Amino acid sequence: MQSTLEEVAARVRPLVGQGRVASYIPALGEVPVDRFGMAVATVDGEVYGAGDSGRPFSVQSLSKVFTLALAGDVWDRVGREPSTLAFDSLAQLEQDRGMPRNPFLNAGALVTTDRLLTRTGDAVGALRRFLTEESGAPATVDGAVAASELATGHRNAALAHLVAGYGKLDNPVDDVLDHYVRGCAIALSCADLARAALFLARGGEGRSGRVLPPADVKRLNATMLVCGMYDGVGEFAYRVGLPAKSGVGGGILAVVPNRCVVCVWSPGLDACGNSVAGVAALEAFTVLTGWSVF
Ligand code: GLU
Repeated sequence: MQSTLEEVAARVRPLVGQGRVASYIPALGEVPVDRFGMAVATVDGEVYGAGDSGRPFSVQSLSKVFTLALAGDVWDRVGREPSTLAFDSLAQLEQDRGMPRNPFLNAGALVTTDRLLTRTGDAVGALRRFLTEESGAPATVDGAVAASELATGHRNAALAHLVAGYGKLDNPVDDVLDHYVRGCAIALSCADLARAALFLARGGEGRSGRVLPPADVKRLNATMLVCGMYDGVGEFAYRVGLPAKSGVGGGILAVVPNRCVVCVWSPGLDACGNSVAGVAALEAFTVLTGWSVF
């Protein structure tokens, strides 16, 4: 596996630095574009890494996978269909009459964050506890990234108010937004994230016990497959063929059921918001290993 990762890293090296960092969150705009890291955590607990696999980065929307896993049943308030509009689209939410299309759009993640807040009293605390326990590394919120997003996140504020206007939040809008933004601002490395997400490849079994029943893990992976890569989800399924979730920090978390979790990070994003080198690395990984869900 180690040599496979080295081979993948060598193949994608020419692409590292291509694309644009997500500067709509000013603090993310300061991250050097030429980073690349990749880690694989296997179901038997081995972890392999290449490049910056141990360097923490802003998880952003990768947190939405864990929020969904911990929130309990959310499907009365959020759908599971892909969206062709942007992840922060107000038009999509209006079109869907306040029922977010899926839990990985910002509107959907505000709903799952609200549920987790109701369930635990501290959504970001629950997220951090889970990530720390499962990864073995302290999951801390990067205060500068959170402050930067809170100061500029007018679209998310608008989405949260619109969702609330449709009667789909149980907690105060500002509390939900605050937990959502701080959850996105958690910093972890590829190796930490691959470890923390292992329950997705192990039928729900995490490091510290059962996280979800197998049927719910199947549903979560299926939701990632059809909704996890913004409006590039079809192209990604074609090139890679794995359930995955992307974040604007440049991370992608991908699951090979019963084998491993792969996390890749490179901050240069394509027009859909997916890491250019990250997608290429996952494609090369599936070609070299022959692993996909198809
Ligand atoms: N915190 C980011 C936002 O709400 C997350 C977006 C993403 O990674 O998809 O805009």
